[in-house]
Amino acid sequence: MNTHPCKVISPDNLMASFEVAIKENPANELTLTSGGRHKRSVGQWSKFWGNGRSLNITFVNAEPETLRKQIEGIIRQWEPSTNLTFTFDQALNGDIRIKTGAQTNESYVGTDATLAPTDQPTLSLFVGPQDNDFEWTILHEFGHALGLQHEHLHPKANIPWDKPKVYDYYKAHYQWTKEQVDYNLFTLLPTVDFMQGPYDKESIMHYVVTNELTIGDWEVPRNTRISKLDRRNMRKAYPKANTTP
Ligand SMILES: [Zn+2]
Repeated sequence: MNTHPCKVISPDNLMASFEVAIKENPANELTLTSGGRHKRSVGQWSKFWGNGRSLNITFVNAEPETLRKQIEGIIRQWEPSTNLTFTFDQALNGDIRIKTGAQTNESYVGTDATLAPTDQPTLSLFVGPQDNDFEWTILHEFGHALGLQHEHLHPKANIPWDKPKVYDYYKAHYQWTKEQVDYNLFTLLPTVDFMQGPYDKESIMHYVVTNELTIGDWEVPRNTRISKLDRRNMRKAYPKANTTP
């Protein structure tokens, strides 16, 4: 069956989202220059965890230890590009709480996870180890958990979408409304922020874009691994001491 495309979980309370992001990591407060003035507008902040911290990752369900270890191994692919320490201690509260066997693949973005009730997952996985999209889906979802947004929403993405076809396709395959398509595919991130590099078609955070949904010859195949620019973005968000990104 078709796995639904990932939707990030957006908190209802934008002000709370902003406040936890700044409290966790003051560098999350972005300013953009507009006509010589610095200003902040709604949605104008990043959601990275405090640099240098340890991030505890737990599981919500009682899945087999072998599955947990598999997921941990995939998640740890991100770790060398950060200045974070990942721990997997079920005895402690999870900053990130993973639910396997879920209905969808989804995650909060970075510090938004702190707004979820502590008995609720912050990252859900529909995919299981029998699925060929298991690894790249976990890499993608955990990219969100570390604060990355969808790459196809990069302000400079400039994807030549054939919008009527996109609406039809997503309605037929996933029962998405026009509003859901607009939000998840067409609403670009507000600005290029301090850590955002150039638009990256190879990013693990990019949706698949099939040629039939674009005007002209334009597509993005399934990206299955963390790209060079993904790693560079992560090193910028979580810099190690005495290194240049
Ligand atoms: Zn996603």
